[in-house]
Formats: sequence, structure tokens, C-alpha cells
Amino acid sequence: MISVAEALERITSVFEPLAAEQIALAEGLGRVLAEDVVARVTQPPAAVSAMDGYAVRHADMSSLPTKLQLIGSAPAGGAFDGTVTPGTAVRIFTGGPVPDAADTIVIQEDTESDGETVTIAACGPAGDFVRPAGLDFRAGDVGLQSGRVLTARDIGFAAAMNVPWLRVRRRPRIAIMSSGDELVNPGELRGPNQIVSSNGISLAAFVTACGGTPSNLGIAADDERVLTAMAAGARGADLLVTSGGASVGDHDLVQKALGKEGLQVDFWKVAMRPGKPLIFGQLGETPLLGLPGNPVSSLVCAVVFLRPALAKMLGLGVDTAPAATAALGRDLPANDRRQDYLRATLSYDGAGEPVATPFTKQDSSVLSGLAHADCLIVRAPDAPSAASGDRVEVIHLSGSLFSV
Ligand code: AMP
Ligand code: MG
Repeated sequence: MISVAEALERITSVFEPLAAEQIALAEGLGRVLAEDVVARVTQPPAAVSAMDGYAVRHADMSSLPTKLQLIGSAPAGGAFDGTVTPGTAVRIFTGGPVPDAADTIVIQEDTESDGETVTIAACGPAGDFVRPAGLDFRAGDVGLQSGRVLTARDIGFAAAMNVPWLRVRRRPRIAIMSSGDELVNPGELRGPNQIVSSNGISLAAFVTACGGTPSNLGIAADDERVLTAMAAGARGADLLVTSGGASVGDHDLVQKALGKEGLQVDFWKVAMRPGKPLIFGQLGETPLLGLPGNPVSSLVCAVVFLRPALAKMLGLGVDTAPAATAALGRDLPANDRRQDYLRATLSYDGAGEPVATPFTKQDSSVLSGLAHADCLIVRAPDAPSAASGDRVEVIHLSGSLFSV
């Protein structure tokens, strides 16, 4: 039995960042940049007004109020071609180019106009409400750096930089296979001793959430030939993830069946709870991650091992340490030699500090608890008993995978 840290190291060391591919900007949400995004335009391209009002020469503002002759108009997308001479002003609108020789915008609210002239009652300092050319960015600026996971905001920013194509990491292709005689797909006719398979569909969603493309191969019966035939469908994938059949029972056939197909097992037991029976190895060209069948074990192992593997393939840094801490919401007994991942809710105390309270039911079959958990409390092997209020390490589950 190896430690979580060693298992994580052995798993992630097998993967390298995948090749880049070119995609349309509109397809970019959640993708990882494989190349800097460089602005192809300057924004704004010329000095523009930040407000609706009048473009004036600040030199004309020395004594207020003052009356100026109106000589034209500059809407957004249009321009006044002449020059603002002393004693004149140009009507201007937000985004309208500031005409030659004008240097300041007087907001409409500080003026009165009869259409021929405008009377200025108040004016700010020189340059007021003028957005200079290149205020946001200039052509050639690196707007977004390689390695960034693109948000909706980034997509808008790249569009403003006039960048219609992106170079991004190819999505990792993850084949997923469930195993167990007792399993049927959601909605299928169920025999008397059968249960609905939740792992395949959940792992597929997990892979999508982490930036990969899942391919759900299906449910294999506990039969060596069926397992072998179905696993052949993983050819071309970057990783085959199996669930179930990873343990030592008579019906746990993943190692036995795939061993005959050349599966090289690197390790198959990790000192963690949930998730002890976990296989990692190589099946021909394809790495194999064999997750335990219990739904909570399978998903917790996905958080601990599959997500970092996907991150490595996407060229992202691999977080080996839990990212956050919280105060414990209730007492916990001393831990044994397995690293524990307790499903817990997060609340906030009067000072706004996070408090993680583990559910009382921690059985690895209790999927309702995992679904409603906000975080996993990580307890090191042999951790002493802990009291309510003690600091514990947590892995956030909610709100961590997607950002806008
Ligand atoms: P195993 O790892 O095959 O021994 O399975 C451990 C437990 O997880 C058993 O109770 C299985 O019925 C259950 N299990 C295995 N695969 C799945 C699955 N895909 N969905 C839900 N439960 C499963
Ligand atoms: Mg089984």
C-alpha cells in the first residue's frame, strides 16, 4: 500500500501536456491557452469621449459660464472632420472620436444648448472624460498568457483584441468503463438484485468539468471476455478509467482480465479512505486508472488523482497540496494509517471564517452525502484526535471547477 502523495506522483509523472490545436474564439470557454493571445488592434483606436456632452478646448474654460459656437457632431462610429477653433465646441457622444484641437469633454448635465450655441456652466480639469488611444491595450500587447483557462470575460477580451482564432491544448480523451453484473444504466429495466450505475455518467461529467472529452464505453459484466472486449474500445484515448472490480474479491476481474491483455500494473493499493483499491498501470499504449466501484470512492479518487492527471495533460500546474483550510465543525477521533477524505459542509462563522462540518454518515456508498458536500476534509494518516474549532485542510468541491 503506497501513500496518496506517492500514488499522485506516479500517476501524474506518466502524462505530458498534449499538443495544441486551433479553434474558433467562440469555442474557447474553459479551454487552456497553448500560446499567448496578442492584440491585433489598439483599443480605443483613437482618443474618444467617455460621456455624452461637448468636446471643448480647455483653454476656453478659464472663466465660466461661457458660451461657445456649435460647429458639428461626433457620434460613436462617426467623426467630426474639422478642428475645434477658439470659442467653438463639438457635440459628442460616448465612444465618439475627440475632434482635433479639443482636449476636454464637458458633460451634457453641465451645459445648456439652443442647437446653435452651448453654454458651459462647469468643467473639470484638462483631459476630463477623454479616453486616450490605447487606454485598454495596444496592438502587439500580450493580452492573455499561455496556460490560462479561458473565462467568459477572457473570450470578450480576445474578441476586443480582434483575435478570432485561438491555439489551445487538445482536450484529453478519457475512456470510461464501468464493471459489475449488478449494474444497469439509468432508466433500463432492472432485475431484482440490480442497481443503477452512477459512476460512468458521473465520471464522464467530471471529465467534462475538468476540461476533457469523455467517452463512456458502457457497463461490462463481471466476465473476463466482456471486460477485455470493452476495454479494447479505449484505443486512441489518453487514459482509460475503469470503475469497479479493482479489489480482491472473486468478481474483481479488472487486473486478471486485462493482465492477460498485457496490463502492466504500477500499483494497486493506496493508503486512503475512501478509495483503497485503486489500480494504476499501462494497457498497451494507454494508461489505465482503475477506480473502486463504490460511488463515493470512485468520485473522491477522481478528485484526488484524475483531476491532477487531466491538469497535467492540459499543461496546468498540478496542485499536490489541498488548497484551503477551515475550522472543524465537530470533534473527530484519531485517524488510522489511511489518509481520510471526509465529506463535509461549509458554513461561515460570525467573523466570516469557513467552518467544515463532516457528515455523520461517511460510508463510501453514500452518494447523497457526496452530492451535498461542499468540501472534503483531508486528514493525514495517524492524525491525532481533533476538537471542534481546530484547523483542518479542505479540498473545495463547490464553485471550484467553473469560473466566469
Ligand atoms: P466493486 O469495486 O466492483 O467491488 O464494487 C463496490 C461497490 O460499488 C459495490 O456495492 C457495487 O455494487 C458498487 N458499484 C460498482 N460499480 C458501480 C457503479 N458504476 N455505480 C454504482 N455503484 C457501483
Ligand atoms: Mg464489482
